[in-house]
This record gives sequence, C-alpha cells and structure tokens, in this order.
Amino acid sequence: MGGAEPASATVNPIVDRLPGWVSLLRAPNPGPMTLDGTNTWILRAPGAEHALVIDPGPLDEGHLRGIAERGPFQAILITHGHHDHVEGAGRLAELLGGVPVLTAPFDPRVILGGNGLEIQVLDTPGHTGDSVCFLVECEGERVMFTGDTILGRGTTVVAAPDGNLSDYLTSLELLKTYGKILMLPGHGPARSDTAALAEEYLHHRRERLAQVRAAMAAGARTPEAVVDVVYPDIALRVRFAAEWSAAAQIDHLNRESAAGADGLDRL
Ligand SMILES: [Zn+2]
Repeated sequence: MGGAEPASATVNPIVDRLPGWVSLLRAPNPGPMTLDGTNTWILRAPGAEHALVIDPGPLDEGHLRGIAERGPFQAILITHGHHDHVEGAGRLAELLGGVPVLTAPFDPRVILGGNGLEIQVLDTPGHTGDSVCFLVECEGERVMFTGDTILGRGTTVVAAPDGNLSDYLTSLELLKTYGKILMLPGHGPARSDTAALAEEYLHHRRERLAQVRAAMAAGARTPEAVVDVVYPDIALRVRFAAEWSAAAQIDHLNRESAAGADGLDRL
C-alpha cells in the first residue's frame, strides 16, 4: 500500500536505467494507494543461474506467470505483509515448484545471498511493523530496495495501529546513513539517492507533525478532527488513509508528550 499525500518537491532525479542485474515487472494493480502498480523486482547476478524475486505483488495469474518465466529462482523475498506485495506469493511459490517465501522476522542464520548477490536485511518498521529494506550488493554496486518505507513518488502512509510513526522516523534516520545509493521502491520509479529521499521524507513528516501539534493544541482530539484542519482539501477517496495517518501522528505526539520530550502538556 502506497502514498496518499501529495508528492513533495523532487530533489532527487528519477532513474530510468537499472543496473544490469535488476529487472522490474510492474503488477497491473494501479490505484491511489499503489501508484502505477506494485513493483516486482527480479535480481540475477551476471552469469548466475538462480535469481531472487522481491515482492511478487497481487494474486494476478498473468503477472505471476510473467515472473515465473524468468526463473529459476532461489527464493521469494517480501518487504512487508500488505496484500499488494505478498498476496501472490503462495501461488508464485507453487508455479516455481516450492521455492521458499521469506518474510520478516528474517532468521539471521539463513543466508539470503549467494549466486553473486550479497544481501543485508534492514529492519525498518513504521509503514508496518514488519517492514524491512534489502540492501543488495552485486559487482561492487549497492542498491536499496525499500518496499513501501520510501516510495518513488509522493510519501508513504503510516497508518495506526500497525504503522507506527515513532518507529518510522527512526527507520528514516537509519536509511539516511546509507548515503547516495540507488533506491528501488515498492511503488513508483527508481530514484538515485536513498539518503536524500530519507531526509526529504523526514522533513515532510516533521512539517506535518508541527501542523498536527498545532491542530491538537487548538482542540482537535480525533483523527477526523485533525484531518479537517490539516488536510482540508483531501479527496474523499483517500480520506480514510489520511485519517489512519492522523491516528498515527496523534499516537506519536502523545507518546512524545508522555515522555516529556518537548514539554507538551499531556493530552
Ligand atoms: Zn504497504
């Protein structure tokens, strides 16, 4: 599930050319929450027999068969449990004759790499409790697969109760430390600089939180009331997502307030 809020200014160019060892199959499920559709990524090191797939996407037979044709695969990796990323995993595993589906929590004893790929799993909860990013290195080139933690366009939804804004901000701070490496998201285009986008997302979240803090200080107590103040022009079809976001923002501010982090009155 992707972003509902308007796209922030682009500081970081869209990338059209992918590394030779990465290919994209976009699922035919476009929508307000999925942008152009779910990105299914296929990773195969030069000369390697087996590939990996990240996020099979929805249960769409044509899409899943298109993935299977690019086999053989070593494993199916999942960035997080939203159905637009994982729904097709069981069927794809079946099409591939029982290839394992690997989801969070990732067992550190299981070696994900091999076949010319080095893979590090980063725990990046926030969009969901189970969200991870995959940092993959091949032939000296590093790429970050971010799932819905950072999207190629716009911002992602952090919806209470599964989403947690405090965790999300911590995850963005972590991604900021990885520097200028190519970002391949769960929805939208590839972008050239993971760290710059993490910084842009943090800036956007802090601005929104300041608005929500002001709305709460002025008496807004519920997600509905906060949305009325902070997102007065929100389209009806995505209002539900804004209310989930507002619930996560209220949670975060209440937690911060309870911790006495910035001297807010307890709400
Ligand atoms: Zn999602």
